[in-house]
Amino acid sequence: MAKYVGAHVSASGGVENAPLNAMEIGAKAFALFTKNQRQWKAKPLSEESIAAFRENLEKSGIEAKHVLPHDSYLINLGHPEEEKLEKSREAFIDELRRCEQLGLEKLNFHPGSHLVKIPKKDPDYERKLEEAERHCLDVIAESMNRAIEATPDSQVKLVIENTAGQGSNLGYRFEHLAHLIDRVEAKDRVGVCLDTCHTFTAGYDLRTPEVYEETMRAFDEIVGFEYLEGMHINDSKPPLGSRVDRHHSLGMGELGWEPFRLIMNDPRMDNIPLILETIDESLWPQEIRALYDLIEA
Ligand SMILES: [Zn+2]
Ligand SMILES: [Zn+2]
Repeated sequence: MAKYVGAHVSASGGVENAPLNAMEIGAKAFALFTKNQRQWKAKPLSEESIAAFRENLEKSGIEAKHVLPHDSYLINLGHPEEEKLEKSREAFIDELRRCEQLGLEKLNFHPGSHLVKIPKKDPDYERKLEEAERHCLDVIAESMNRAIEATPDSQVKLVIENTAGQGSNLGYRFEHLAHLIDRVEAKDRVGVCLDTCHTFTAGYDLRTPEVYEETMRAFDEIVGFEYLEGMHINDSKPPLGSRVDRHHSLGMGELGWEPFRLIMNDPRMDNIPLILETIDESLWPQEIRALYDLIEA
């Protein structure tokens, strides 16, 4: 099986260190932040840093399509306030350009949050919530279209990650992902990343072959495997459907090993980056080996 497993490695000291950090843990894929993920502003990447990144990537033997950069946590492409939305859109375009400079092909992001507070006791709660979600998804799609228009010569795909649905985060239903893809004009610039913890806490079970297949069939029908550009491989602290985003080390949470055995033997996950975002990075070399050991001959 053509499986490419890695982790979200550190880029501290410069992006050029990320491929080396990936190599060190035996990874065949990796994720990174191309700038400090908790700051709005970042210095442009220097020529030296870009050249060193490309050189180290080559040295690592990891292909660009198996690198899945993650955007800043500050960005909300569905922000309800004009000024903050604009700031997010600009920062997102900057992230896309950084990926392009590094010769990378994908940018992983969380769709966004509507931030609308509707009191639970409101008799119209359901309808108002649905309206807020639908409107926010349209704003996110518009942000994606603008980002694509601003980078017309780029090949970098905007890879939407499914979420746990914590707070007012969107992307917790496969229908949300489909809604976004549907409204993005340049379909060749869009992809999806499934996070196992988020999938599970959003209410899609993965723990037996039967429910795993049910979840994957729903994904295929609603979104389509042709859009799957990567996965995040995490166990989950909270239970099924809790809508809480707390990762755990593999085998130590609610998911156990079975979902990962199923993924490692599923040809639909061939040739895409499978990225650990588990909580104890000292376990990454072990977790990567354990995942490969799950492959049945
Ligand atoms: Zn994730
Ligand atoms: Zn998460």
